[in-house]
Amino acid sequence: MPPLRALGIDIGSTTAKIVGVDEIGQMTWHLLEQAEPRVEAQVERFLERARQEAGPLDGIPLVATGYGRRLVRQATRQVTEISCHARGIYHEFGHGGTLVDIGGQDSKVIGINPVGKVLDFVMNDKCSAGTGRFLENTANRLQVPLERLGTEALSAVEEFSISSTCTVFAESEVISLIANGVPLAPILRGLHRALVKRIVAMVRIVGLVQPLMLSGGVAQNPAIRRMLEEETSEKVILPRQPQLVGAHGAALIAMENSDL
Ligand code: ADP
Repeated sequence: MPPLRALGIDIGSTTAKIVGVDEIGQMTWHLLEQAEPRVEAQVERFLERARQEAGPLDGIPLVATGYGRRLVRQATRQVTEISCHARGIYHEFGHGGTLVDIGGQDSKVIGINPVGKVLDFVMNDKCSAGTGRFLENTANRLQVPLERLGTEALSAVEEFSISSTCTVFAESEVISLIANGVPLAPILRGLHRALVKRIVAMVRIVGLVQPLMLSGGVAQNPAIRRMLEEETSEKVILPRQPQLVGAHGAALIAMENSDL
């Protein structure tokens, strides 16, 4: 592995990610784990793994981002998720557009200009119904593995509309529909649709600049990708590692600032 030039760490509400880049900004090393309540201990462990697997870290700049970024005391700098996501996606595609990032407990829509600068953004971290948690809760409750949720939803021809606008109430609604004999797949389809409609309302606020790009853990869900395309009539472009875009952007910012 080439020597590390910079590190980026993204402490999300659901997962913690660390990315190492080489001197041309390519991602050469990464780790992703479920986020732990003791952020400091998890970061210490991540850095120890980086030392073991990628070499000494002396003088290597580290930028922290995400919901828990202020707890990363080893960081040279803390930078917002908006800047890091924009930087990461621009590095991958080399153009602007509209980036939708759907994480575990927040979602954001970022308008990016042709040279990678943030034009505008909107973030939802108040209501879980527009985030991955909305799907995660149902998956747990119905004992459907998260990885199968999207495929299951897409297998339905019919779609059952979910009227509750809150995660907790939607969960009860789903349980009572199942108890009343409604098949699972059309309910799941309706749940995915409800999430996507919330996201599309955010896209409309920022204004859609083509192309439409999708990141965050929820980008791995095929029903979300398909429905986002249906609801916007735009093709959705996916980065290679959707969950690592923020951490990659943080590493790139760390590298560029240390050049100054
Ligand atoms: P954060 O950065 O906010 O911690 P992530 O971007 O890591 O969150 O996204 C976590 C969310 O991704 C989970 O809530 C879950 O809904 C979704 N997710 C994670 N893995 C998968 C998968 N294999 N298939 C579908 N969805 C997934």
